[in-house]
Amino acid sequence: MIVNNYHTHSLYCDGKDPLPLYVQEAEQRHIQQLGFSSHAPLPFDNNFSIKMERMPDYTAEIDQLQASTSVTLLKALECDFVPGISYPFAELKANHHLDYIIGGVHLVRPANSDELWFIDGPKREIYDEGLDNLFDHNIQRAVTTFWEQTFEMIETQPMDIIAHVDKIKMHNQHRFFQEDERWYQILADKALQLIKSHDLIMEVNTRGIYKKRCDSLYPSVEMLTKARKMDIPVIISSDAHQAKEIDLLFEEAYSVLRQCGYEQLMCFDTQKGYFVHQRAN
Ligand SMILES: [Zn+2]
Ligand SMILES: [Zn+2]
Repeated sequence: MIVNNYHTHSLYCDGKDPLPLYVQEAEQRHIQQLGFSSHAPLPFDNNFSIKMERMPDYTAEIDQLQASTSVTLLKALECDFVPGISYPFAELKANHHLDYIIGGVHLVRPANSDELWFIDGPKREIYDEGLDNLFDHNIQRAVTTFWEQTFEMIETQPMDIIAHVDKIKMHNQHRFFQEDERWYQILADKALQLIKSHDLIMEVNTRGIYKKRCDSLYPSVEMLTKARKMDIPVIISSDAHQAKEIDLLFEEAYSVLRQCGYEQLMCFDTQKGYFVHQRAN
């Protein structure tokens, strides 16, 4: 199969390896297109996103690496959407001459609150604490807030790819809600409709499985099956935080996609400057 990865993190944000190591790994594994997607700068202190002042070095290093590799390197950011707080995605893309933007929700802002619920990362306790402290352990209200923030991101922020759309399930681990509950399905269905109407690419993200934090892909097979019927285009990504994770479980993810009826993945057309359909093998 053709392997491209558009979702990777390096030392510029919370990744563990420098950019050249990713390029080396991509060459060895015959990856054709490699997109760097640091967590975008945020207007508050944190330990996971690239600092705004590092952006020129980031894009310059990618340009410099491109001069000596046959792998197509692409410049991107994974932008967090936090209502009323995060920088506009369009501004980040234009100011730094990026090839594309991945949008994702990792920090959920409850209504009328400045505190944020961190739903990602290795620690389930942080998810549980946020659920208790910010949402009085009301799982339906908390999860609905996550999805509504996702809807607002899609409706207000121009982007190319939506990251791990149902990440909210990761730390739930089937404890507080089930994905086949009606209220949850209505929210997930609405996300698919918005992804379709805004012409977004949905990523199929393998990280939850290989990090053993989740027993299914983001998004679930149920969502992928519906997405195929709606003709929503997809890419496969590993959301690598180390070079050795660059193509983890791609074959497995592709086989799931095939079972859902997919035969094409999106790839970046460097002439056109946007993603186009490509047969996957
Ligand atoms: Zn993410
Ligand atoms: Zn990521």
